[in-house]
Amino acid sequence: MRIVLATSNQGKVKEFQSWISEYEVVAYSDIMEPFEIDETGTTFKENALIKARAVYEKLDTKNDIVLSDDSGISVPLLGGAPGIYSARYAGVNANAKDNLHKLIAALKEKNVQRTPAFYTAAIALVCQKGEFCVHGWMHGEAIAEERGNNGFGYDPMFIPCGYNQTLGELNESVKKVFSHRARALELAYIVINSLK
Ligand code: IMP
Repeated sequence: MRIVLATSNQGKVKEFQSWISEYEVVAYSDIMEPFEIDETGTTFKENALIKARAVYEKLDTKNDIVLSDDSGISVPLLGGAPGIYSARYAGVNANAKDNLHKLIAALKEKNVQRTPAFYTAAIALVCQKGEFCVHGWMHGEAIAEERGNNGFGYDPMFIPCGYNQTLGELNESVKKVFSHRARALELAYIVINSLK
């Protein structure tokens, strides 16, 4: 059984392959012409399912499982922003630093140094047996400054529960154990094994 990732990001392929090592994992762009997938959903779950369905529909071999993930950071003080817009918070052409700086500016505008925040990851699976979706969360606090260079995206401004340092400062092994993606993948793995 092969797992086709609805992403052309080789970093994600490597990450998922290291977690699901006994299955062959390929990027959809390695087996078909890459195409634009509009993330028009209003939740992480909807967007993950939209991507996985779009790739599954184009597959020649319907024995594969398509896996897609959608993730982001939510700050309740900001009404849940940036949420599903995390990757394009500062605009469609914005990079990760622009997004991070926009979130820091939003906290400063509210006059807070730190406030509760959480990461969400939704993982959708689409295969012959149907559609499935699991979630994982990592709770903590968003701070109005940038600290450390580890991780990516909003990590330099996120302090996970139980720690005093940001994910930018902490060793990357912390995320491997209890990140939103790691937790969602633990559940996805159980679903995948039940689909054999
Ligand atoms: P996706 O690739 O469409 O799921 O977009 C995820 C976006 O959410 C990324 O571009 C980051 O901005 C943010 N994000 C998701 N997970 C993480 C994480 O573990 N650390 C930092 N930022 C993250």
